[in-house]
Amino acid sequence: MTNREALARIKWRLPGTIAYLSMYVIALIGLYVAWFYAPNPFTQDVIWGIVLGYYCRMLLVTMIGHRCMSHKAFAFKDDRLLVVYMALFSTCVQKDPLWWGYTHRRHHRYSDQVGDPHDSRLGFVWSQWAWFLSGDYDDTDFDKIRDLTEIPGAMTIRKYYLVGPIVLGAVYFLVGWFMHSGEFTNPFHSALYMLSLGFFGSTVLLSNGTSFINSLAHKMGRQKYTDTGDNSRNSWILALLTLGEGFHNNHHHDQNKAWSGEGCQRILDITGQVIWLHDFFGLLKRRVT
Ligand SMILES: [Zn+2]
Ligand SMILES: [Zn+2]
Repeated sequence: MTNREALARIKWRLPGTIAYLSMYVIALIGLYVAWFYAPNPFTQDVIWGIVLGYYCRMLLVTMIGHRCMSHKAFAFKDDRLLVVYMALFSTCVQKDPLWWGYTHRRHHRYSDQVGDPHDSRLGFVWSQWAWFLSGDYDDTDFDKIRDLTEIPGAMTIRKYYLVGPIVLGAVYFLVGWFMHSGEFTNPFHSALYMLSLGFFGSTVLLSNGTSFINSLAHKMGRQKYTDTGDNSRNSWILALLTLGEGFHNNHHHDQNKAWSGEGCQRILDITGQVIWLHDFFGLLKRRVT
């Protein structure tokens, strides 16, 4: 199927699509205002707001949504710590961790076949954006993820998954206000500026960085394990952008490992390193190797 055919078969979920595209528009307006009107367009707080907003939340996606919830590659001794991380995960604006885990398990069950939510054979546009903008994969079958729904607090976090982004947006707003981001004379303008570039800008980047694993990591790079029966690849560039998830062919080969990188690739597998640190401090049920 070509990109054009994939686009033609999408049943657009209009409110969600408009909300998603609005984030791009807000971030672009922020960039425009920064460039032409801010006394100092790129103050350090805004740059850190974008970098930390991207990489801290990428870690929540990779460590919690992916390796913990989807694959059970490691488990916390105390479920309350997982609940805290799940609540933080909801700031990523990628719905709730139960939907994320369910959808990703489907990806592995049907990798690059009919039934894979972001089947890479349907083209870049589909696997990068269109699969989640269509209503085709909105559902969560709780019967298939009993192990996740039984985690105390998981269903509450699912119910209130919009609270996380609202709270984080408010934090960015307040940081902008008090740090005089962009050195605007009016603190309200600084706050709006930080909200648009820092929060919405990093959220848009995070969405695309995550989706690169669904699209490019099934197209770009080297396929070490050809027995996976799919198009998954290993890419250092994607690993840099996604804290180690770019070693996606390794991951498809052995899905339940806490590490995606092998040998010296582990230098770039920051997610694996952070999981290892949790193990080092005695926070995990079983040792990770
Ligand atoms: Zn996976
Ligand atoms: Zn994959």
